[in-house]
Amino acid sequence: MDLKDWIATDLDNTLFHRSWGGEDAVVATWHPAAEGEDRVPSSWIRGSTHRLMEALGRSFALVPVTARDMDSFSRVSVSGLHLGGPAVVANGALILGTDGTPDASWEKRMTDLLSPWEAELNGLCEWLIARSTGRARPRLVTGPGNLPAYLVAKAEDGWWNSTEGKAVLGGRDWAGCKVAVLGTELQVLPPGVGKHEAVTEVRDRFFGGRPPLMCMGDMPQDLQFMCLGGLMAMPVGSVLERSLT
Ligand SMILES: [Mg+2]
Repeated sequence: MDLKDWIATDLDNTLFHRSWGGEDAVVATWHPAAEGEDRVPSSWIRGSTHRLMEALGRSFALVPVTARDMDSFSRVSVSGLHLGGPAVVANGALILGTDGTPDASWEKRMTDLLSPWEAELNGLCEWLIARSTGRARPRLVTGPGNLPAYLVAKAEDGWWNSTEGKAVLGGRDWAGCKVAVLGTELQVLPPGVGKHEAVTEVRDRFFGGRPPLMCMGDMPQDLQFMCLGGLMAMPVGSVLERSLT
């Protein structure tokens, strides 16, 4: 089979949903389980979407493009779909090769890029913890070499667009980072870290420069990498679709 053609797809809220997707839904991710305990699903892929992706996966390589870190990506397991690599994880701070382990040359490049940002990201996280007074839950997502790759802060639905949330966002200089509110979540990415940059590398390194046949995503921030491919797909009702229509 020729797997030279490929599909790049975001996972959460593009393929995976936190609500149960009906009788024929397939488990996508699992909660971390303590030793001796049964695993409990944390998200599902709808039956019809699963059949589509399974059919596509027989002809094309499926490349996940996700903000999940290694730990949370390791809890992705969808029956019948090969999503283990190549893959873009931690918003592009890590690329997994075909064997599912971090690609060494990308790791080196990102370690060099992120080292000078370590103190700044720690400072931004501490500031956000103090400033959001419990309304947001800021944490650093780990990338290569145990360095922080980016900052994420979840809040209640709508809080980042409230007067209080907006005051926090406007309350400091973000040092040239890409700052985006994705639904309930704030993401702060150092320049050079991103899905677009990593998908470009995957194209050149693993697919001989051939662009993805199709890219899938659900957020306006996915659009840049989605433009690398020939076709785009997004869920109807997603933030991305609503931002375009
Ligand atoms: Mg998503």
